[in-house]
Amino acid sequence: ETTEHAGPSDLSGGARIDTTTPHPARMYDWFLGGKDNYPVDVEMGKQLVAMEPRTMVMARANRAFMERGIRWLAKQGVRQFLDIGTGIPTEPNLHQIAQRVTPEARVVYCDNDPIVLRHAEALLRSTPEGVTEYVQADAREPQSIVEQARKVLDFTEPVALSLIALLHFVSDEQGAHELVRRLMDELPSGSYLMLSHATGEFAPDTANTATDMYRARGLTLALRDRDEVARFFDGLELVEPGVEVVTHWRPELGETGLPADESDDSDDSDAPIPGFVGVGRKP
Ligand code: SAH
Repeated sequence: ETTEHAGPSDLSGGARIDTTTPHPARMYDWFLGGKDNYPVDVEMGKQLVAMEPRTMVMARANRAFMERGIRWLAKQGVRQFLDIGTGIPTEPNLHQIAQRVTPEARVVYCDNDPIVLRHAEALLRSTPEGVTEYVQADAREPQSIVEQARKVLDFTEPVALSLIALLHFVSDEQGAHELVRRLMDELPSGSYLMLSHATGEFAPDTANTATDMYRARGLTLALRDRDEVARFFDGLELVEPGVEVVTHWRPELGETGLPADESDDSDDSDAPIPGFVGVGRKP
């Protein structure tokens, strides 16, 4: 018996949803309380939560950073966004945040998981003034992404490249740093790189166990420490406060995703939420 199926709402022309192995997009959806996940995803998700109880808080904190950062970029005057590793649509989606500030904003989304393609319709509900597009592609093929994004984005005007919770799924051997450099090389001065990244820096043992869990299922987890994350910004001007723990990046700009009883985690004895974020501007 196969558990693979393609439903009637499938936009992908037959791309299979593989429900025999966990997928990061679907586990992340489960962390956020979404419904687009399968028993294999929930099973591994529960194991991760058992190991790191703040996994769900981390997902919400990551989402909250995306909101603060995109709103900040839109307010800087950025009108074009290229979002790779978009994930299953979750309100508010990136284009909704940007278009609330700038209704004309143009957004290209990209993911390599067929489940995201299946739900891409929710990403295509642009304002009439703006545009949204969805590209099914792998981040490790930046040239193909750029070619397709060109149909919607003007690469002579600044673009914000957002890689939110993507790069810890791409190892150094798979070319994580090269793909960022190649994408940023295509963008003009005044463009931005915005990213978030899980780290093992605060709990190395847990991090090693998590990495093994992913590997055992044929998945890559490449946790990086602060310096390694900062390297993605080589050649760019880091925006204040630099590469920071996700909840500490400009919390004054909005929600941090922390539960109310943890909203001030500055003097918390717990370790910080294990994710680094940053925004950099191309000079
Ligand atoms: N950016 C969203 C979702 C993060 S989950 C957010 O932060 O809320 C990570 C996403 O990256 C998943 O949807 C997964 O399918 C996608 N992804 C992982 N590796 C990828 C790759 N090589 N190319 C494109 N997308 C990838």
